[in-house]
Amino acid sequence: MANVANTANMPAKRKQQPKPRHVPERTCIACKQVRPKRELIRVVRTPSGHVELDPTGKKSGRGAYLCAKRSCWEPALHKGRLEREFELTLLEEDRAALEAYLATLPAEAPPAPAQSSRAKKAPPQG
Ligand SMILES: [Zn+2]
Repeated sequence: MANVANTANMPAKRKQQPKPRHVPERTCIACKQVRPKRELIRVVRTPSGHVELDPTGKKSGRGAYLCAKRSCWEPALHKGRLEREFELTLLEEDRAALEAYLATLPAEAPPAPAQSSRAKKAPPQG
């Protein structure tokens, strides 16, 4: 006979209490918002004086964190936030790499639901 869903006989999933795990948080150096570390982009100052992206978060060196949005990267790169943070002057090649990354970022991180445009009433027509 048709042996239907095999999976129905599987031992019930053990219910695990979702323990509130400690989420490491970091502060964005531009907007100063505290966010879970994984939502932020780590930039690292390597021991050799380079500043580079650290997508894995594992490079050694002094790190700084930025939101994944242009409005935080722009002041970081263009207004010296990052240089002040690292107390150095960005090398041109490093700056170029970071600029290239900036260009890939969305202007704003979470797309906020637009609501205001609906409220507009049609102008009275004579
Ligand atoms: Zn930010």
